Amino acid sequence: MKLSNDQLKSLSAVLDKTREFELNCNECLDLVSEFAELELAKQSIPTALQAVAHHLDLCQECREEYDTLLKAIQEFGDLAP
Ligand SMILES: [Zn+2]
Repeated sequence: MKLSNDQLKSLSAVLDKTREFELNCNECLDLVSEFAELELAKQSIPTALQAVAHHLDLCQECREEYDTLLKAIQEFGDLAP
């Protein structure tokens, strides 16, 4: 497994701030679309997905991924009820 310096830097920054949360970027990205849908639907966020919110606060990379996803959902509107 090779990581760039930037990835290592953000990884260690995340690990440093998220000791009580075991969510890593891959897990976060797996859940982020579900999280975005619930957010847009203004539904309550289950505990499992609150870790996603926490991760997004701390991780710039996943935050950007989430913002992109949110815009895509809003733009296409295909997830609206
Ligand atoms: Zn992340």
